[in-house]
Amino acid sequence: FEGMTVVELAKRCGESIATVQHIIVNVGEKIDSEFDPLSIDIAELVAMEIGVNVCRLHSDDGAHVLGRSPVVTVMGHVDHGKTSLLDALRQTSLAAKEAGGITQHLGAFVVGMQSGASITFLDTPGHAAFSAMRARGAAVTDIVVLVVAADDGVMPQTLEAMSHAKAANVPIVVAVNKCDKPDANPERVRVQLATEGLSLEEMGGDVQVVEVSAVNKVGLDKLEDALLLQAELMDLKARIDGPAQAYVVEARLDKGRGPLATAIVKAGTLVCGQHVVVGAEWGRIRSIRDMARKVIAQARPAMPVEIEGLKGLPMAGDDIVVVESEERARMLSEGRKKKFEKDRLTKLEEERPKTSELEE
Ligand code: GDP
Ligand code: MG
Repeated sequence: FEGMTVVELAKRCGESIATVQHIIVNVGEKIDSEFDPLSIDIAELVAMEIGVNVCRLHSDDGAHVLGRSPVVTVMGHVDHGKTSLLDALRQTSLAAKEAGGITQHLGAFVVGMQSGASITFLDTPGHAAFSAMRARGAAVTDIVVLVVAADDGVMPQTLEAMSHAKAANVPIVVAVNKCDKPDANPERVRVQLATEGLSLEEMGGDVQVVEVSAVNKVGLDKLEDALLLQAELMDLKARIDGPAQAYVVEARLDKGRGPLATAIVKAGTLVCGQHVVVGAEWGRIRSIRDMARKVIAQARPAMPVEIEGLKGLPMAGDDIVVVESEERARMLSEGRKKKFEKDRLTKLEEERPKTSELEE
């Protein structure tokens, strides 16, 4: 929508030029000519008023595009060791070392390798978080680590995780956990996964399987290598200059500092002082901290950061967009609040059983 004129926007939304002009005037903006380019914020407002869903895309033409780190989510059956594995991985992270091993749940953490490469892990295991984010349009995860306990084997939630990853078109790396147990049977897990349709590497497919023990911290380096190899195959890249496109992975209310959001930048650079709209909330970024709690001036792609300065508490999966001014931020936030409320009511209406169905 960036740089679209009123004429183009009207055409894209299937509305008349007069209607679009009318909406623009209603939101308090003035237009000199229907051939002048509109700002992306105004275009989004108009589209929302019309009821068209918008997705902000910034052109990568001529932009500075660089390789970026993968963002990884851990999924698997209950008690198969997702939390233990994340804890073990987190302890190998730089932030953990800097904080003297004391780790805090912040929604994400980064593990840096000796080679200089790094992996960003989302800290919230489980399918609910993954689905919620996806439902909100947040394609944050690049790779899923599917944890399967070597003694227990493939279970219902293992299959569920597989189908979530498949639906999201996200590749899987399997971590066969609890390999320290006497009754561990990683071979059986491999056969089960293959039977369920995963094409494992050792059988000529592309899904890597790594044997680990989260408790004994065995195989973690192999798992990290496997993730980096998978990332390399995917050739992950991101535009690094220009306005940030980011997602919230976790948000909390701090007594002193107000709403805090852990965010991951997908593209562009998020800069302290910018005005933002986050889901239906808005604010001005007062500070950006990295995962070691160090204040930094800006955040680049795949970097989880904690941002302060929002007026309200956003939700996991909310998008973060940078806007020109406080006035714009406020206006877009109001527009989105209205639209989200309308969507919610429509959804309720759709879900309400029809009277005739009740009578049957
Ligand atoms: P989650 O439900 O998938 O998050 O599983 P947890 O991480 O909470 O682990 C469930 C149980 O399995 C806990 O009692 C862990 O101590 C245990 N566990 C996790 N990983 C391992 C492992 O590698 N080896 C052994 N022996 N036990 C493990
Ligand atoms: Mg857990």
